[in-house]
Amino acid sequence: MSTSDASLGGFDDAVSACPLVPEDSDNDELAKRYPVGFTDYPFSEIGDIPYENAPIRLCWIIDWDRNKYATILLVGHVGIFSVKSGYLYKKPGRLGQVKSYTNKELDLLMKDRCELCHREKGGALGNENVVGGVVVCDYCHAAAIVTAEAAEWLI
Ligand SMILES: [Zn+2]
Repeated sequence: MSTSDASLGGFDDAVSACPLVPEDSDNDELAKRYPVGFTDYPFSEIGDIPYENAPIRLCWIIDWDRNKYATILLVGHVGIFSVKSGYLYKKPGRLGQVKSYTNKELDLLMKDRCELCHREKGGALGNENVVGGVVVCDYCHAAAIVTAEAAEWLI
């Protein structure tokens, strides 16, 4: 997996150390796109019992409300789940035993991978475009279109 962000560290380690990742997982595309986390939060919609320990599950963090809740995909389950960020861990484990992602880390993780502004403009992760072989955020893409149109108009 190539999602590792050296400044935060540990995604690749977490995934390779996790016995929960299916060997034949075809989630490579997702894995490249979104950061990985773990949660043991019980989801009643998939049969977990509220307030009881649920299995420790691998998840992909696909959004974060910049306050308290993250939107995640769970390995082996269809659908989108919402979880309090305190239950999103960096490594497999349970609340209090492993570190949860901090708000600051989630903020950084959820920014896009724009190769032009390098996340400065804060485009949405997973919403990048590839223009001329370069990964750009919506803001840089829009700016490029405006610039190209202005250039044409000036000719
Ligand atoms: Zn950009």
